[in-house]
Amino acid sequence: MAYDDNNIFARILRGEIPATKVYEDEHVLAINDINPQAPTHILVMPKGKYVSIDDFSTNATDAEIAALIRATGKIARNVGVADKGYRLLFNHGPHSHQEVPHLHVHILGGRPLGPLVLRKE
Ligand code: 5GP
Repeated sequence: MAYDDNNIFARILRGEIPATKVYEDEHVLAINDINPQAPTHILVMPKGKYVSIDDFSTNATDAEIAALIRATGKIARNVGVADKGYRLLFNHGPHSHQEVPHLHVHILGGRPLGPLVLRKE
């Protein structure tokens, strides 16, 4: 799948649409999810143009991959969910219901999160 320069996170990264910034470094931007599913719901994304974890794990540099993972752990500690625990979620492709085609990892926490996935549709 080709990268769509007009996806919503590309527009947020370009500063065309506002978002509540939680963290930023050379390779990474993290924002609060607009429709939070838990008291803490943060989206951590690379600044590079990657559609999903499939694209990112194939084509990103080691520095970009390390930056995303390091930032994710750091953000979780900074917002105070590391002690009690949190869930990380990457969606890729139609079975996952990925909505926005720019790689992001969800950090969900702040309450017990229940089962990992729906048992049936
Ligand atoms: P996905 O299903 O692609 O893994 O998750 C996309 C997430 O992006 C959803 O949780 C949705 O609430 C969030 N989202 C969609 N549009 C916006 C937006 O304009 N701003 C922010 N901050 N989050 C958004």
